[in-house]
Amino acid sequence: MNNPFENAMLQLDKVLNVKKFNEDLILRLRQPDRDIRISIPVKMNDQTTKIFDGYRVEYNNILGPYKGGIRYHHDTEINEVKALAFWMSIKCAVVGIPMGGGKGGISVNPKELSKSELENLSRGWVKKLSYVLGPYKDVPAPDVNTTPEIMDWMTDEYTKLTGDTTKATFTGKSLDKGGSEGRGPATGLGGFYVFDSLREQLKLPEVCTVAIQGFGNVGLNASQIFTKHGHKVIAISDSKGGVYNQDGLDIDELVNYKKVNGNLSNFPNSKSISNEELLEIDCDVLVPAAFENQITKENVNNIKAKVILELANGPTTPDADEVLFSKGVEVIPDVLANSGGVTVSYFEWDQNLKGEYWSEKEVFDKLLHIMNTSTQKVYENAKSNNTDLRRGAFITALEKIQSQM
Ligand code: NAD
Repeated sequence: MNNPFENAMLQLDKVLNVKKFNEDLILRLRQPDRDIRISIPVKMNDQTTKIFDGYRVEYNNILGPYKGGIRYHHDTEINEVKALAFWMSIKCAVVGIPMGGGKGGISVNPKELSKSELENLSRGWVKKLSYVLGPYKDVPAPDVNTTPEIMDWMTDEYTKLTGDTTKATFTGKSLDKGGSEGRGPATGLGGFYVFDSLREQLKLPEVCTVAIQGFGNVGLNASQIFTKHGHKVIAISDSKGGVYNQDGLDIDELVNYKKVNGNLSNFPNSKSISNEELLEIDCDVLVPAAFENQITKENVNNIKAKVILELANGPTTPDADEVLFSKGVEVIPDVLANSGGVTVSYFEWDQNLKGEYWSEKEVFDKLLHIMNTSTQKVYENAKSNNTDLRRGAFITALEKIQSQM
């Protein structure tokens, strides 16, 4: 079993083989500033009380307040949250925003809860953790299975408990509750900007074939954005499996189909495939947009994509990474590729604190500028150190954090 935190630390070690950094900094980056484990009692609809395990990891705040999403998943545990918090520290530094790294979660399958139970659980997480949160201390956001509505409940609970009315303690809120234009598609769009900035350097064709694992916030938005820009999404999957059509899938039709049928299988004019098959499809760009540890030493030799755009966090294990690097498959790493989400979260925080409203165009223009400049910096750092883009991204981040110590 791959431990995501051990994998994250291996990634750090691999960077240090290429370039040396301040030893105090590296020591600090080997563990979080604070990892908090809580139990959350929730009164269920049948009047019994159930206890859920919750987490908040504050990795480091050298660049600014701890920042990172909250994940609701039955497999969520402390090593996963620690890894995600570490990657957030690196990610914020890659894009140069004044935020540190954090992450939170609850071990729960949210599909098994009623709406009121989910609301009580979300408010319960805030009740236990409000003492560490705050606009200048620790600013959570959505991640897997957490939505703008959940962020609204959490913001409301935090306001009730503390009297803070800035709304800047949580990002990813609904638009009418202090959210930012463009936060919904930000991760998928940012990922597309990164890909587009590198497309020619990576010698990809003008029209690429794309396979996407995951059909949630990130995967769905990415599929729509790639299609809108003339690329062909030939395969996509969710937790129940996927569909494939070499001529390209009609994504709008697929969204409607899933709404009606609850899954993707038997979508007209497509072949149903498993998640394993999706990863091994012959395509220009493979986009993992679901979970960690999807491309491993077990399946890496079957991967046929030319480029992997990591929109999920931690989808490629370090041993698989080495194989891909030696075979010349470029991996655009998560800490760059999915940083559009936290960048627009930072915009939301900034707007809340200044009492401003930015139009969608303003948000997307600012996002494009940050994605382009960060991507080219990462590319230059990879080339000048004769290494891959992941190490290029880590070098960009470590230089930034080191300069602020
Ligand atoms: P989500 O809950 O909206 O969607 C997750 C999707 O993955 C769902 O479609 C689910 O069916 C699918 N899935 C689950 N198991 C799968 C499997 N084994 N194979 C294929 N698909 C599977 O979550 P999201 O917000 O889209 O997050 C996806 C990934 O992107 C996560 O790794 C998350 O950490 C990362 N990420 C999200 C954001 C954001 O802004 N939401 C930002 C940065 C990174």
